[in-house]
Amino acid sequence: MTRFIFITGGVVSSLGKGLAAASLGALLQARGFKIRLRKLDPYLNVDPGTMSPTQHGEVFVTEDGAETDLDLGHYERFTGVDARRGDNVTTGQIYSQLIVKERRGDYLGGTVQVIPHVTDLIKEFILKDTAGADFVICEIGGTVGDIEGLPFFEAIRQLGFELGPKKAIFIHLTLVPYIAAAKELKTKPTQHSVKELRTIGIQPNILLCRSEHEIPEADRKKIALFCNVAENAVIPALDTDNIYKVPLDYHAAGLDSEVLKCFEIDSKERLDLQRWKNIIKNIRETKDEITIAVVGKYTGLKDSYKSLNEALAHAGIANNVTVNLKWINARNADSGLEKKLLEAHGILVPGGFGQDGAEGKIAAVKIARENKIPYFGICFGMQMAVIECARNVAKIKDAGSSEFGECGDPVVGLMTEWLRGNALEKRGKKADLGGTMRLGAYPCLLEKASLAGKIYGMAKIYERHRHRYEVNINYKEKLEKAGMKFSGLSPDGNLPEIIELPGHPWFIGVQFHPEFKSRPFAPHPLFASFIKATLKKKS
Ligand code: GLN
Repeated sequence: MTRFIFITGGVVSSLGKGLAAASLGALLQARGFKIRLRKLDPYLNVDPGTMSPTQHGEVFVTEDGAETDLDLGHYERFTGVDARRGDNVTTGQIYSQLIVKERRGDYLGGTVQVIPHVTDLIKEFILKDTAGADFVICEIGGTVGDIEGLPFFEAIRQLGFELGPKKAIFIHLTLVPYIAAAKELKTKPTQHSVKELRTIGIQPNILLCRSEHEIPEADRKKIALFCNVAENAVIPALDTDNIYKVPLDYHAAGLDSEVLKCFEIDSKERLDLQRWKNIIKNIRETKDEITIAVVGKYTGLKDSYKSLNEALAHAGIANNVTVNLKWINARNADSGLEKKLLEAHGILVPGGFGQDGAEGKIAAVKIARENKIPYFGICFGMQMAVIECARNVAKIKDAGSSEFGECGDPVVGLMTEWLRGNALEKRGKKADLGGTMRLGAYPCLLEKASLAGKIYGMAKIYERHRHRYEVNINYKEKLEKAGMKFSGLSPDGNLPEIIELPGHPWFIGVQFHPEFKSRPFAPHPLFASFIKATLKKKS
């Protein structure tokens, strides 16, 4: 039997609904249940692919090539279950589907309305492709009361009713703020938020109360009374210094047993949290620390590089070190860049779009190459590494990317066709910008006698992509003569996937985004090796 857990948020945004959903997923998994996690995003974009990462954080790419909300990254990292295209839906997707149906005549004779037509499609999405899961945890983006969210709240209300209390429950995440002047925690915002939820017909079963401080029993009693929930179901969710501690904290606060109680499942069933305890132990007992300079341009919002941050932290866990990040805005890369970079133990240029900041990134590559500082270039960071080597080593003066306009030597050029499995994907210069990149997992063949080959220890890998431009294979020979090795290629040999500089202690550029596949329990080998190399540099 598949049971549904709906997670909503109230009072303010950014309370960590995604982490709460992921942590609950991890706890249920630790009890031996099969879980799926889904996210319903009320915004009107079809997917976050066209949004700037500084708006809504990183765009997370799934194995099957969907551009999704960054919370799906938390889901994957916490549970190890690969998310699928169908695990993230937006208002934009629901309405595009609805309009297609309407034009086709599916609703012939009827007036198309939010209730029941939009809500029906939302319910269909929630229920689709869930066979085999014991629990489907469904997070609703935004906060209760948002206008865009209303159809989603209405849909889960209907589903709760249709499925019945033993098959669907509601968890509401709220804030219990601390007022410093009064030295008091305040329960009123939670009361109001639940009132708002009940106005639209949803009575939460469990309240997860985010707070900076312990919530005294008297306050929990008060919340329970005013919000019509059992006292044990008012669960404190206190701030913590490490996200991987959240499952353990929520377990200690009683979240998973309360969830099982709501479903009338015996909570004494097996529970194995050892791997979470080990992770925390490893994080607490690091022996050293290193600093990585990340030269990017979406440095204003930490969430812009969410998976990257996590992959670096995982690599730290793998090497017993704390990885400190020094963010450098490539847009302001000036004469001070060299000094800043020379202080770091490793340099990383992450993914990016557009010409703005590109020269700063190219300058960073040069500094890493010349000073033999470990360099890791991801997607755009690989493209900039190729441009740098082309200009300064292969002496191709006009080397550039056609992403920045016409250029004499497009060592990075627009991809107009490529193979996905056996199917040929084609794109014109004027193609739509949404959902048209090379997206998702593609195979790459590795050269055995290369650094990448050694790191992966296998001949064929699958990594996730998200880019429109590609290193131009026509320059391969010239670049090889200049000392660059093409250690990973697409199976047809046309698309360079990994480049490296054999004479350098650690210099790798990858066209894909390895950060999406890194997990705390299985750090990505490239990141782990990069951090190991920075440690060598330090000693
Ligand atoms: N802008 C580059 C491209 O489209 C790189 C994209 C990225 O770094 N994800 O190819």
